[in-house]
Amino acid sequence: DIGVSLEKLQSLADAAHQKFKDDTDGKNADYIPELAKIPSELFGVCIMTVNGDVITVGDVDYSFAIESVSKPFTLSMLLRDDGYEAVLEKIGVEPTGLPFNSVAAVELHKSAVNPLVNAGAMASVSMVDADSPKARFEKILSYFEEFADDDLTVIDSIYESEAATNWHNKGIAWLLDSYGKLYADPDEVCDVYTKQCSIGVTARQLATMGATLANGGQNPKSGKRLLPTDQVPKLLAIMLSCGFYDGSGQWACEAGLPSKTGVGGGIVSVVPGRFAIVGFSPPLDEHGNSVRAQNAIKYIAEELELSLFNGR
Ligand code: GLN
Repeated sequence: DIGVSLEKLQSLADAAHQKFKDDTDGKNADYIPELAKIPSELFGVCIMTVNGDVITVGDVDYSFAIESVSKPFTLSMLLRDDGYEAVLEKIGVEPTGLPFNSVAAVELHKSAVNPLVNAGAMASVSMVDADSPKARFEKILSYFEEFADDDLTVIDSIYESEAATNWHNKGIAWLLDSYGKLYADPDEVCDVYTKQCSIGVTARQLATMGATLANGGQNPKSGKRLLPTDQVPKLLAIMLSCGFYDGSGQWACEAGLPSKTGVGGGIVSVVPGRFAIVGFSPPLDEHGNSVRAQNAIKYIAEELELSLFNGR
């Protein structure tokens, strides 16, 4: 029982789309040149329940770059393979209170701080057990495909655009390495991370990925278990405290849901035991989080009192 009818979910998704589709606040990421070219008016909302039911409105079949929404799924692989203690020791789980690409956070803590900022996501990639960068990427991609229960591919134009301009992330990788907190070659890790961020997903596919987390780690479509049940609360706690970077506290107050954003315009929010809500729209606020997606998710969360702290 997901505690709400599918009709009600559809009407709220429709209302959210209607309410925010003409909101022109924010702007596309442009530090990755290719992202600036994505049509700003794209806007989709997709909800998938733990029973595999799907609610859609708007541009839910447009394949956009997953970007930082990839981070919790690579973390999921580490929680599955190495466990929480290894993540705690080798990366950390504290919010930085700083932007996603902060160098200062790394220098202050002499570690990656948490797996959902760039430093920690690269540390995560470096911990994926594989004997070549190619194998490392393929392992990540096929795990993501199991989450999406669908084939996924890299958006080459976005990968090439970021790979040609990612000096800042390379700097973070080398800095982390200097503290002994990166666990493979820095340039190779940064490249695999960049490729991971360039994987294309639709709002529909991302909703399946999120619904797997809502469903205790078991994909509601394929029935496959992708993460042990006891690791799911750890992953969701990290998403709640760190998923919005320096906007995480505000998001916890206003939506109260473990979530992850990306500069491609995607946001996934997880309502444990019930469903996942995905919003996608390219224009971002000053923290790098999609304006329309945030507003849509917040609207649905408020209408249904979804904040975890309501105690349902
Ligand atoms: N690939 C992007 C970067 O490293 C991801 C950032 C994000 O989505 N916040 O800058």
